[in-house]
Order: sequence, then structure tokens, then C-alpha cells
Amino acid sequence: MEKTFIILKPDAVQRQLVGQIISRFEQHGLKIVAMKFLQVPLSLAEEHYAVHKERPFFKSLIEYITASPVVAMVLEGPNAIQMARNVVGATNPLDAAPGTIRGDFGMEIGRNLVHASDGPDTAKAEIALWFGDDIVDYQRALEPWILE
Ligand code: UDP
Ligand code: MG
Repeated sequence: MEKTFIILKPDAVQRQLVGQIISRFEQHGLKIVAMKFLQVPLSLAEEHYAVHKERPFFKSLIEYITASPVVAMVLEGPNAIQMARNVVGATNPLDAAPGTIRGDFGMEIGRNLVHASDGPDTAKAEIALWFGDDIVDYQRALEPWILE
């Protein structure tokens, strides 16, 4: 079973799309195992996006992610990382397929609504950075109807 890290970015909160976006993940069968609502401190934003530090969009990206509260969560399931990326869609909403979150709700790359980990190493590091060990272990009653 794999875990992935998701952020509903400030535009998702401001546009009151939190419920609709979480539903997209839930209806796929991805299991919520951690969630919190927070104003992202500058230090956390810079550490989370450290890989993009030298990119021209870094400053605007940090301003974006710290502009308003976010919802951060950890989702679990078989191949959860790729599944969540599929649900989220391509980075630029212009390229994101209809039916994906970015494809259905987004207009521009700098307002693309959601973050999802891009691989096993980043997922592990991001979950540790944002949640430490605060992952909730529980059983879903419908599990056998979601996973064979
Ligand atoms: N981003 C941007 N301009 C760009 C590329 C990326 O504003 O030209 C922002 C966008 O919010 C994106 C984030 O930086 O989601 C991280 O970029 P990455 O390439 O990791 O995309 P993601 O993994 O989020 O699809
Ligand atoms: Mg990325």
C-alpha cells in the first residue's frame, strides 16, 4: 500500500472547491489517512518547494502557496502516487485533460489548485515534512468493495 501527499492550494480554498476536490480523490477509493487546514509558514513553503529554488517562478510560487490557508492531506491506496497525479492532471491546466481537477477547474499554471507528490522519494519526504508520524491507521468498512 502506497501513500501520497496532497495540498489543496490557496485558490482551491478561496474558490470554495475544497469539498469538490476532496470528493474527486474519495470517489476513486483513495483513503484519507491524515488531513489538516493551515496557513503555510514561509519556512515550510520554501522547504517543500526547495527543488524549484533556482527556477524563475520560485518567488511567485512561494507567494501563491503562502497567500491564504491550504488543506494538506495524506492519501493511501495501491499506486496512490500515480493515481493521485492522474486525478490531478497535468501541471498546466491548459494541458490537463477534462475530467482531471486541473483540467476542470484551472486556467493557468500559477493557479493550478492542487499539489500531489511526484514519486516515492518525494512522497516520503513530503509526508515526513508536513505530518511527521501523524498518520491515522484505521479500517474502512467498504474496503473489499473498493480493493479486491
Ligand atoms: N509552476 C509555475 N510555473 C511554472 C511551473 C510550475 O507557477 O512554469 C508552479 C505550479 O504551481 C506547479 C508548481 O510550481 O504546480 C510545482 O511545479 P512542478 O513542475 O513540480 O509541477 P507539479 O508537480 O505541481 O505538477
Ligand atoms: Mg512537482
